Amino acid sequence: PSLPTLSTDETYPEQPPARPLPEWISNKYACERQTPLVCPNQPFADALSTIKLARELSGDRVGVRAYASAIAAVKTFPWAFEQGGERELGKVPGVGKKVTMLLREWLQTGRLTEVEALEKDEEFTTCRLFWNIWGVGPSTAKHLYQQGFRTLEDVKLQYWGRLTREQQIGLKYFDDIGMRIPRDEVAELGRIIQTMAVQITDGGNGVHSVICGGYRRGKEMSGDVDIIMTHRTQWQHLVQRLTEALEKTGWVTHVLSISKSMSERGGHPPELHAEKGIWQSGWGGADSLDKSLLVFRSPTTPPGSEAKILHRRVDIIISPPSAFGTAIVGWTGGTTFERDLRRLLKERKGWRFDSGGVVDRATGHVVDFGEWETAEEAERAVFRGCGMEWIDPELRNTG
Ligand code: ATP
Ligand code: MG
Ligand code: MN
Repeated sequence: PSLPTLSTDETYPEQPPARPLPEWISNKYACERQTPLVCPNQPFADALSTIKLARELSGDRVGVRAYASAIAAVKTFPWAFEQGGERELGKVPGVGKKVTMLLREWLQTGRLTEVEALEKDEEFTTCRLFWNIWGVGPSTAKHLYQQGFRTLEDVKLQYWGRLTREQQIGLKYFDDIGMRIPRDEVAELGRIIQTMAVQITDGGNGVHSVICGGYRRGKEMSGDVDIIMTHRTQWQHLVQRLTEALEKTGWVTHVLSISKSMSERGGHPPELHAEKGIWQSGWGGADSLDKSLLVFRSPTTPPGSEAKILHRRVDIIISPPSAFGTAIVGWTGGTTFERDLRRLLKERKGWRFDSGGVVDRATGHVVDFGEWETAEEAERAVFRGCGMEWIDPELRNTG
């Protein structure tokens, strides 16, 4: 059976466009392709995401990379695959034999046996459950499974004292944090944070903020709020001041972690060989910007209200004005867009991308993307300076 056309996105017509494929589809890097939020082959992309998660949970980094590339390729594909479609998919760079065979199985049977096996696999489903606790990574999830735990209750009762403080908060508010946040509430949380920043700085003339992450890519429901903020003159230590002010007014209930290293370095990205932990992992590690990872009260249960508090996850990222563009690019995602952006700049320019700044590997100099008046200008300058065509945030949904 051929796949139903699920596209609700206006960029893609219901009928397959006249083949051949668009020229940009053979671009090697996902950051140079258009990738919508919902694609015509969405169920297949979702099935691949389950396999990718299984690779992540078993610590298979090569596998994660391969499936991430394949998902980005499927999601960029402009029409629903029909019988024999694996030959077309194979033309997108980064798609290997394994995945074209999976597409063949999918087109012939409408399912993937590997995904069905995973959904019945106790180890996979249990590790996925534990991994969904904020602060629990793949290795801790596996450890908990190997200890014999199978439910959140098991972990609460038998492992509580050995969890980190962050993991305890993650477990305590598991249901709240796992609940998606509707767009208008994300926007409301953004306004609360922006207003507080204006209040605690000089009349707020210098404050600029943009909500990034999945919200900016067009998701109806977000896992958290990612707000990127800068201030023309008072960005330094703003992360601390803002967090304290929000705690004082009751909006912030818990601070998971706070990082002030950009302020402490005076606004420069770290030296090429310093802070190894940040750079070594390529994508996946923390970036060099000041940030505060928080638990908020939902505006539906604001401070002072009698209702039982609903907790929301909020990331506040503060950049120096010079890094506002890279901060926005780096925190908009999606993950494979970010991974390929780093690869592209490394291979094509000899640069190291970080949300806190781009550094020329040969000279160690920070790349200057110029002045900006608005957030959009700052972001466009980064694309231009990197020699990349502009891609709308809604078309960066690489998974
Ligand atoms: P969700 O709706 O689940 O929040 P999301 O795409 O917003 O989806 P997040 O985990 O909030 O996912 O991350 C938002 C973006 O910020 C990512 O796409 C990534 O580009 C960036 N990001 C996340 N964590 C880090 C980090 N530690 N260092 C650098 N960038 C990060
Ligand atoms: Mg997010
Ligand atoms: Mn986030």
